[in-house]
Amino acid sequence: MVIAQCKKLVKIYSAAQDFRALDEVSLTIEQGEFVSIMGASGCGKSTLLNILGLLDEPSGGEYELGGVATAQMTDFERTRLRRHQIGFIFQSFNLMPRLSVLENIALPMRYTDKPRAEILPRARELAVRVGLEQKLYNTPLQLSGGQCQRVACARALANNPALILADEPTGNLDSTSSADILGLLQELNQSGMTIVMVTHDPKIASGTHRTIHMKDGKII
Ligand code: ADP
Ligand code: MG
Repeated sequence: MVIAQCKKLVKIYSAAQDFRALDEVSLTIEQGEFVSIMGASGCGKSTLLNILGLLDEPSGGEYELGGVATAQMTDFERTRLRRHQIGFIFQSFNLMPRLSVLENIALPMRYTDKPRAEILPRARELAVRVGLEQKLYNTPLQLSGGQCQRVACARALANNPALILADEPTGNLDSTSSADILGLLQELNQSGMTIVMVTHDPKIASGTHRTIHMKDGKII
């Protein structure tokens, strides 16, 4: 089954002058795949990931998520689809500094109609799944980088998404923690999660099924 399909995606940023950040990118992601995206800084990796995650809209081309065309959707529909179908993991973790591990993991569920009583038990289950059962009530400042990224992985799983998008998830981690996070993502993938990950590190990319190389807004 196809999870995500892009056809000739174009993204033009209009600043002082127009800049073509994506230039007719076509890409199909199948359910269960673990795909890495590599390429020099500025080649359009984050732009592509943000479009895949419905954080940004293309200037041209088509994008279907779970068989549904996204072009004509309202902001409300896009936000709803994103909340339910996409989990994001960022280089800088993007955790809420004043919230506990448990509350950080619970946060995406608080924006859905999931019954309140089910939220914390599910967050706890996810914390255990990523190996943080000893840290439930710590805040991000009390954790290592690798542990913070584990929280972000658990948070990405909160609403049981169809697709996890990770933008340089090991970019701020030492090599041991990087290997650790790659191992966790591989484990999630083996249990059925579809993952697309941007990385600079060929060693990390070699731990995925397939690597897409980008240059100047194109897949090469
Ligand atoms: P990567 O993630 O591969 O490093 P990005 O997708 O972030 O690259 O950016 C691709 C290109 O688009 C870069 O040249 C960047 O400067 C440009 N760009 C990104 N976001 C914007 C924006 N909001 N406005 C103008 N240009 C942008
Ligand atoms: Mg980037």
